[in-house]
Amino acid sequence: MYKKKLNLDSPKKNVEERLDARAVSRGLAIGKVVCLHGRKRQFYRSDINESQVEREIRRFRAAVRLAVSQLKKISSQKSDKLKKMKADIFSAHILIVEDKSLHSKIEIFIKNEKVNAEWAVKTVTEEYIIKYKTISDVNLRERYIDLEDVADRILTALGGSGKTPAALEKNSIIIAREVRPSTLIELMSSQPKAIITENGGWTSHSFILAREMNLPAVTGVKGILRQVQNGDEVIVDGFAGKVVLNPEKSTAENYKKAAEEFHQSKSAGIETSKGNLKTLDGREIIIRANLDLPKGYAQARRSGARGVGLYRSEFLFNHFKGLPSEQEQIEAYRKIANLVGAEGVRIRTFDLSIEQLADETEGIEKNPALGLRAIRLGLSHPKEFRTQLRAILQASTANNISVVLPMISDVAEIMQTKMILQREKDSLRRKQIEYGNLRLGAMIEVPSAVFTINEIVAEVDFLCLGTNDLVQYLLAVDRDNESVADSFRTLHPAVLRAVKIVLQAADKKGIPVTVCGEMAGSPVYVPILLGLGATEISMNVNSIARVGRVVSAIALEEARELVGNLESCRTADEVENAVTDFYQKNWSHLFTKEIFPPKKKYKIKKN
Ligand code: PEP
Ligand code: MG
Repeated sequence: MYKKKLNLDSPKKNVEERLDARAVSRGLAIGKVVCLHGRKRQFYRSDINESQVEREIRRFRAAVRLAVSQLKKISSQKSDKLKKMKADIFSAHILIVEDKSLHSKIEIFIKNEKVNAEWAVKTVTEEYIIKYKTISDVNLRERYIDLEDVADRILTALGGSGKTPAALEKNSIIIAREVRPSTLIELMSSQPKAIITENGGWTSHSFILAREMNLPAVTGVKGILRQVQNGDEVIVDGFAGKVVLNPEKSTAENYKKAAEEFHQSKSAGIETSKGNLKTLDGREIIIRANLDLPKGYAQARRSGARGVGLYRSEFLFNHFKGLPSEQEQIEAYRKIANLVGAEGVRIRTFDLSIEQLADETEGIEKNPALGLRAIRLGLSHPKEFRTQLRAILQASTANNISVVLPMISDVAEIMQTKMILQREKDSLRRKQIEYGNLRLGAMIEVPSAVFTINEIVAEVDFLCLGTNDLVQYLLAVDRDNESVADSFRTLHPAVLRAVKIVLQAADKKGIPVTVCGEMAGSPVYVPILLGLGATEISMNVNSIARVGRVVSAIALEEARELVGNLESCRTADEVENAVTDFYQKNWSHLFTKEIFPPKKKYKIKKN
């Protein structure tokens, strides 16, 4: 998406430069660059004062203790999984992490440079790594990899060492290759102003979260990390998809004014919606909220949401920096269910990948999106899965809670989960622990689930249609990869046909379907969903009011006519053109002419 060629060799300082980007969360911001670094845990450089030096040293020491205890635990495992060679590697890591001269270099760096522990660990270990890489003995040279691993482990441990990291400066704008959702949650307490990344897609979890938190964000700015330094002034335009580096005074003034107006309009209040939402011709449509952070529900309710259609429980994992205990989960689920009340909350079981679960003895996957994640991970890690199901069962005694299973690709996964659920209920009953009557749903987000939908609807009480993954897997387009973002075509005929198949099968069986991917939060796509038969849509809190306005301004009959026009379309472009024509003809008071961003065109070479 990056159009303008960057001058990567000699970045000119203090010269205004405008870069094209892809807007992924609305809003405007002006601030100072903070670059993110790190693989497993992301961090930034923070300048500290004299009084904070001791605290950073204590954080570093606590992280070292944590890293040592993790490594000792792993290397003492007697399982087959940990073969001799791996045990040797972890023993070598212990030697490095306990190295006194490394410790003292890092602590001196913190003291002398007055920087946070993360920055000191990165800088000092990088110096070692550079030295190792120049050693002529090949065996010794390769040891830099161990050093990288150890540095990574200490940096990760710094996040889990119990003490919160140094806060971001005011007006910080985060720049990173990609931002992890856990990083964003960690950073939110110091209120960054915006995010710029080189990579990521509209449906990447971090951007879903950014939209939920009203944080302007743009992506696709390839090479930007090499162009900027911490402290540079930068503007983010999350409406037009623009970044301005080192803005001139007049540019900055203009954007500041626009950003203030944007903030005022944002705080001017979220609409209060009264009564049930209906289309112009009287068809009731239920809007629910997708929630990752419970505090958003009050706003969702004011905007007209009826319950939570998707609670992504894996955000607890980010919050607790690891798997929460059974009791912590019971409390979290009760909290959200009490807040939501009678309309109910659908808790999705952990949609995590094996890498996030961080079993150190298992390898990194080449294709995590196709790997051990979501329901597969749950079923292959029964202890953790049972803990979560038990927690949801106990939380649902006095609440309206349903449970939904992510990434179902085979009805057998639902049947196995039902057996596990029954066993947990029996065990709770034997222990005389109260539990509620859960309803069970399946996320439909992979093609095999669409093609076995009749078998699936026979086993569940409801469906959630996850269009983010459905588009990803139907079209084989990585939703997190900005380079293929133009191929992520939500209105591809295959997607529309899959959505229709699912809605019809559920209707025939008489069970509800909630469409809960980002498609449901877009005022442009929602009329199509209604025309295809959707009556329940669940979305980001900040989309509810806008989508509600569109729903109440169109007739279901019109939406059906629109979808009728799309049936003969052969390509995503044809669908988008037909949609644009229909909106112009019938709903020009609701939509502008350019409802779809321009796409890259493949050039066909002439012979
Ligand atoms: C989806 O895939 O559409 C969905 C709602 O789930 P997530 O975005 O969390 O994968
Ligand atoms: Mg999904």
